Amino acid sequence: MSAQDTAGLPGELPGFMPVYSGKVRELFAPISPETGLVDESRLLLVASDRISAFDHTIDSPIPDKGAVLTQLSLWWFDQLADLIPNHVLGTDVPDRVAGRAITVRRLRMLPVECIARAYLTGGGLTEYRATGAVSGVPLPPGLEDGSRLPEPVFTPTTKAPAGAHDEPMTFEDVEDELGPALATRVRDLTLGILARGNEIAAERGILIADTKVEYGVDPASLGVTPDEEIDWTTVDPDQVQVILADEVLTPDSSRFWRASEWSPGRTQTSYDKQVLRDWLLSDASGWDRASGESPPPLPAEVVALTRARYVEAYESLTGQPFTSPTEQ
Ligand code: ATP
Ligand code: MG
Repeated sequence: MSAQDTAGLPGELPGFMPVYSGKVRELFAPISPETGLVDESRLLLVASDRISAFDHTIDSPIPDKGAVLTQLSLWWFDQLADLIPNHVLGTDVPDRVAGRAITVRRLRMLPVECIARAYLTGGGLTEYRATGAVSGVPLPPGLEDGSRLPEPVFTPTTKAPAGAHDEPMTFEDVEDELGPALATRVRDLTLGILARGNEIAAERGILIADTKVEYGVDPASLGVTPDEEIDWTTVDPDQVQVILADEVLTPDSSRFWRASEWSPGRTQTSYDKQVLRDWLLSDASGWDRASGESPPPLPAEVVALTRARYVEAYESLTGQPFTSPTEQ
């Protein structure tokens, strides 16, 4: 079986037309049983069990990861519902993808990955060390790896096509792309989502260092056909609804840290992928990160520990037990 078959993806789904295959998700358009035509207003969004580390997709899927991401996103969409409408239409999906798939409104996605950071690490830290600023926002001297920022910062990137790397954007770049009104709206929404996320996570002993969200708009609300090019600078966010899409505040889109272990000045232990990264860098894996080669498959205990971390993130945040759709 190929990695795709074992990652919980259906391959083919009767009644659906595949439209996109991402690093983690697979998108399908429903076909109307009456007319046999593709319904262009909706999508089935299926999250696989694929996992990546150090920019490589790992050969071993993590069982239930796709279901955890889907269930956690659904929970957060509800927690955020008063801040922003979301793309969810329903959870009534084919059995083969039960728990890991949702039906969503098919949107035109804004060409910006909206990232907000409350703590400094990763790419933001690298930029700060080189320039004293992040995405053009000057920061005070003396910040370290893991420092809490004086105020959360919006650090958007481009949404690069598959295979290419997302490039940092300044707020001015986003204004050029989206126009000042839409740029300001998505910045404020993104900072609002991170703030609400941290408020809720703090009660559960978790810090959300940073997060990425994606927004879309309904093509019908723009008066464009599904494939027509959009001049985003003409889109007025007071007239056109900006909708939260994709996934939200999951371990794949965000850095979760245990508050009790947070200690600036060193690399913080990430909730989900630390076991995986530690093993890959250890002698036991026999993998050389600098070689550019794909990492080897994971031993069963690394898979099990990584799965446990994802489940723990879901259970700590939602306060609910995770039920595996495959065990039901
Ligand atoms: P990334 O690293 O940016 O997440 P990806 O494209 O590989 O890249 P996946 O999560 O695997 O990410 O794929 C999901 C895709 O579906 C993304 O391209 C996302 O923009 C798109 N998408 C999410 N929600 C919707 C929606 N409601 N309508 C249309 N497209 C959507
Ligand atoms: Mg994605």
